[in-house]
Amino acid sequence: MSEQTGSTPTAGAQGFDTLAIHAGQAHDPTTGAVIPPLHVSSTYAQDGIGGLRGGYEYGRSANPTRTALQTQLAALEGGEFGLSFASGLAAEDALLRAVLTPGDTVLMGNDVYGGTHRLVDRILGPWGITLRIVDMTDAEAVAASLQEAPAQVLWVETPSNPLMGIADIARLTQIGHDAGALVVVDNTFASPALQRPLLLGADVVVHSTTKYLGGHSDVVGGALVTNDAGIAEKAGFQQFAAGAISGPHDAFLTTRGLKTLAIRMERHSANAGLVAGFLDRHDAVDTVYYPGLESHPGHAIARSQMSGFGGMVSLHLADGATARRFAESLTLFTLAESLGGVESLVNYPDAMTHASVRGTELAVPEGVVRLSVGIETVDDLLADLEQALGRL
Ligand SMILES: *Cc1c(COP(=O)(O)O)cnc(C)c1O
Repeated sequence: MSEQTGSTPTAGAQGFDTLAIHAGQAHDPTTGAVIPPLHVSSTYAQDGIGGLRGGYEYGRSANPTRTALQTQLAALEGGEFGLSFASGLAAEDALLRAVLTPGDTVLMGNDVYGGTHRLVDRILGPWGITLRIVDMTDAEAVAASLQEAPAQVLWVETPSNPLMGIADIARLTQIGHDAGALVVVDNTFASPALQRPLLLGADVVVHSTTKYLGGHSDVVGGALVTNDAGIAEKAGFQQFAAGAISGPHDAFLTTRGLKTLAIRMERHSANAGLVAGFLDRHDAVDTVYYPGLESHPGHAIARSQMSGFGGMVSLHLADGATARRFAESLTLFTLAESLGGVESLVNYPDAMTHASVRGTELAVPEGVVRLSVGIETVDDLLADLEQALGRL
C-alpha cells in the first residue's frame, strides 16, 4: 500500500509495549526531535510537477502525522494495514461502503453500540443494505441465521455494549467464513492490549479511538485495521475520496494516548475487577455484568480470548427510577456519555448512549447503569459507589 495506510513490516517482531511506543515514531531526521513533529500543513511542495516527497501531495490523501498513527494502530492489532478516521462511526461507514453493494446484508449482534445499529439501519438501509439481528453470544444461532439466509458481513462486538456479552471470536470467524461472510470485530471495549481479533482470524478490526486508544477523553476518532490488501485498498479509497480523515491534531493526541495503552488497561482491569466484586456482593444490586466474574456466562470464553477483562462494568438495579437515582448520586464518577478515559464515568444507557435504539430489539433494560471505571485510586471509587447505593 501507499503512504495512505500505515504498513508495518515489523508487526509481531517486537512486544506490544515496544510497538506502542516506537511503531511509526521514528525520530525527526532534520532536528533529531524524539517525538515526530505534528504536521499541520494541508499541502506539500512538489519538486517539479508530480515530484512528491514521500508520496505526500494534499492533506486529505495523506499526512505524516496520520501515517504515524496508522502505522502504530496496525502494529498494535497485529495487522498489516491501518486507517484512521474522524470518528468510530466514520470508520465503520467507510468500511461498510467499501465492502458492501446494494442488496447485501449485515448480520449484527443484538447488543451492539447503538450508533452502529443506527448507521446500518438508517443511513445504509435506504441505500439498499439489509440489517439482520442475532444473539452473537450464541454461536449456534449465528450459524443457523447464516444458513437460513446469507449475509456479506458478520458484525461482532465483544465485550458488547452495555451488557458485556462475550462472543467467541475464533468460532464466529469460522462460522462466518464457512458461510462466505466477512468477519468484522468492533474491538473498542477490549482494545488490542487485551484482545487481538485479527490473530483469531477476523478480517477487519474497527475502533472508536475516542475511547481507550485515545484514553484521555480529549479526542474523537476511529480506525480500521486489516491484513487484507484488497479491503485496505477499498477502505483507503473511501477515506481519500469521501474524506472522513482524522485531522493531524487528533492523530497526534491518539498516538500519544496509545503509548500508554497497555499500562492503562492493566489498571482499568484491576479497578473494574474490584468494582465488579464490590457491586456483586451488594444487596441493592440485582445483577453485575462483568466478564471477569466467574458467574458471567461468557467468563470462560473471555478468559481464553482476552488477557484482561477491561474497565467496563454494568449493573442492574431494581427499576428505571432506582437506576436513574444511582447514576445521578455518584460524584467521583461523572455522569456523561462515552468511556475509556482515565477518569471514571457513569452512563444511563436507556436515556443516553442507547436512546436511539429504544423500542427496537436492541433496547437496554431500564434498570441498567453502565460504568466506565477509570484509573483513579480504587478505594475512592468504591466509597463513591457505596454512598450512592446508600441513597437508593
Ligand atoms: C463509541 C463507540 C463507537 C462509535 O465511535 P465514535 O468515535 O463515537 O464515532 C463504536 N463502537 C463502540 C463499541 C463504541 O463504544
